[in-house]
Amino acid sequence: MSMMAMKAKRRKKAPQIQEVKIEISNEEVARILEDIGDMLGIVGESSFRVRAYYKAASSIRGLTRPLLEIYKEGGVKGLEEIPGVGSHTAQRLEELITTGRLGYYEELKKKVPAPLTELMDIPGIGPKKAKKIYDTLGITTRSELIKAIEEHKVSRIPGFGLKTEENILRGIRQYEKMHERILLSDAFPIAKEIVELLRKQPFVERADMAGSLRRMKETVGDIDLLASSDEPSKVMDYFTTMPQVSYVLAKGDTKSSIVARNGLQIDLRVVATYQYGAALQYFTGSKPHNVHLRDLAKKRGLKINEYGVFDASTDERLGGKTEEEIYGILGMQTPPPTLREDKGEIEMAIEHRLPILVQLGDIKGDFHVHTKWSDGFNDIEDVVKVAIGLGYKFATISDHAEKLHVAGGLTPEELDEQLQVIAELNERYQEIEILTGIEANIDNDGNVDFGPDILSKLDVVIGSIHGGFRQSKEQLTKRLLAAIENPYINVIGHPTGRVLGERPPYDIDLPAIFKAAASTGTFLELNAFPNRLDLKDDHLRDAKENYGCKFVINTDAHIAAHMVYMEYGVATAQRGWLTREDILNTYEVSEIKKMLRQKR
Ligand SMILES: [Zn+2]
Ligand SMILES: [Zn+2]
Repeated sequence: MSMMAMKAKRRKKAPQIQEVKIEISNEEVARILEDIGDMLGIVGESSFRVRAYYKAASSIRGLTRPLLEIYKEGGVKGLEEIPGVGSHTAQRLEELITTGRLGYYEELKKKVPAPLTELMDIPGIGPKKAKKIYDTLGITTRSELIKAIEEHKVSRIPGFGLKTEENILRGIRQYEKMHERILLSDAFPIAKEIVELLRKQPFVERADMAGSLRRMKETVGDIDLLASSDEPSKVMDYFTTMPQVSYVLAKGDTKSSIVARNGLQIDLRVVATYQYGAALQYFTGSKPHNVHLRDLAKKRGLKINEYGVFDASTDERLGGKTEEEIYGILGMQTPPPTLREDKGEIEMAIEHRLPILVQLGDIKGDFHVHTKWSDGFNDIEDVVKVAIGLGYKFATISDHAEKLHVAGGLTPEELDEQLQVIAELNERYQEIEILTGIEANIDNDGNVDFGPDILSKLDVVIGSIHGGFRQSKEQLTKRLLAAIENPYINVIGHPTGRVLGERPPYDIDLPAIFKAAASTGTFLELNAFPNRLDLKDDHLRDAKENYGCKFVINTDAHIAAHMVYMEYGVATAQRGWLTREDILNTYEVSEIKKMLRQKR
């Protein structure tokens, strides 16, 4: 039913509207309906009723307006106009969208053994299979199921067989992968590849990443993509048959989920072009940013949701085609996605004072790359070639120093040899300058491998902690402070030592370190290697705003090709609100050399 028809109807007879106690999104409603369908399947309801719930869920997902709005206009009768929603379901929807709860759903949850819904979360296990597994083997948890599969008990369930067992195991692996957070660097390349392919299709108007991926968080939960098109079914067909797809989890009219070849789940949603900006804004988040923005809109008599911006009193649509339009209607700048965490960006955008964040194109080189001379994979010349390919003005060879034996650290003699090789390469490659450097080890007393006689020969000296991570906070801090006081150490490498998913940051007095770094002119590294991203976003911002620190962004590449990880470093710098001026890599090489010498 069109808006016009609904309005005409309302004039005839005002619908009975219940008071709305809590707002619930279409997506949440759809999920609950699917859950109900699942559970009805388990308790043995007719497949007709089960399918009816799935159908209603899918149809609600495809709506272009919030259910609540449809309800407010047309009451229960309005809801019945939604395809796949009968009078029965419409009643349930009314309860759900006005109270945020559904008694029927709560009752069902009590009837269905909880473990079965847990089993049904595994891709490939529907209500029938879950019930059969439960009835024959009495299995109630995922780990029990894995054990039963290992003992080939599942394949012996009548009608199951080895192939089913294999599929279930694959589903479990998939589930596990979906429910751990993914490193940005695992999700970003495949998402970028798919978005670029989507953009090339004639039936796709626009396509973007959304969610924490678009905000470039260090780890992401889900991989959400968004596209706009007048032919959503073509987009769904294309997406679910792309060469990147390993298998299809779900295919709907406007939303599909696939598992990509690298084992990660990717969801794509399609919306109409006129509401693309609103959907992109909504699905990019973060949640706190969106809550704050909605609040702001409310105060100005506006309403924002994933479908557009509206006048709150007349429901007149004011915009939503682009994000800029939405933020513009609120009288503010559009915050870059990397800032959308409700950490002050909304206030700054209102005052039109958002910082101009550092961009990948501002970066003129890298200060921290390893080669075959220590534990790297490539020759110095390979590094030079990659750097030229990246459009860099400089590259720095900074292999490990002597005392890191496991990494084949350089002796003073080897370093001298290396300096000669670099001098020759500098002659040969006029388009780039190769800076000389070393990654020295900060020992337990805060001293490093070499003295001034050797360090003074180098353009850049990085001091890093590579051992004794478990020492007391006092000792670790003392080591770092001593290194910062050393006039030859320009950079503190990976300052907190964290390795995502492996090792927590070491316990150090960050304020003391930031203070000392700022006062001595020592640069703090933002190590861009994707499992480090150290310093992390919040620390960068604190160090800049409260202590006046300066930074270098380094990939710490041990394989020359990994120098492309600079992109993750720049994104993290953006999340730390850093601008070009804060980062040494953005200056001209002559300036850089001058600034590095200043400390000595
Ligand atoms: Zn290191
Ligand atoms: Zn290193």
